[in-house]
Amino acid sequence: MPPLLRHAATWGAKYAAAQLGARRVPGIRFAKATTETLDVKGAASIGGADIRIIVDDLSLAAAAGIAAHETWHSLGDEDEGKATATQRAAKAAWTAHRYEQRAQIRRQLEELYDRICPSGRWEGEASARIAAAWYGSKTIGYTAALVLADRDLGLRLEEFQQIERDGLGDEHAFQTVEARRPHAARAAYSYE
Ligand SMILES: [Zn+2]
Repeated sequence: MPPLLRHAATWGAKYAAAQLGARRVPGIRFAKATTETLDVKGAASIGGADIRIIVDDLSLAAAAGIAAHETWHSLGDEDEGKATATQRAAKAAWTAHRYEQRAQIRRQLEELYDRICPSGRWEGEASARIAAAWYGSKTIGYTAALVLADRDLGLRLEEFQQIERDGLGDEHAFQTVEARRPHAARAAYSYE
């Protein structure tokens, strides 16, 4: 599972637990959509140890929101209106929280690019190997690590672009990564 997606979901679960004044935070299990899950995005049972989240096409903010929704059911009650209100609030709070951290988010993304594309451009097999190693190919295997890298870097880039768009007119939004690192940024789009 992309590390940042898990982080966002955990953040959302903690947000809802705090709203409920609960000490326990449920575990999070990610699953892929199947023909049987239809358009279901998550599941929980009241008092259950874990909540489930469908990861396909999930943005970071959406993950925080759905985790909060399911945590509300898990630790609270079946009330759909309250769960949905908590979901909306968690999503907004996550977005605001990440916006506050935008300088750090930008720095982390640049560090990842520098690591994966040390020459300033995507070097095919060599860059793929570095990315896979960074995402744990030794433990989970090369292909799985590469898939993980694709998704995680894609999510990071998507979030970064969102923040940059929201930050237009903000004097601290400065240059984009594209402006500084045209070759690296171009290669990064292949992750999506
Ligand atoms: Zn619900």
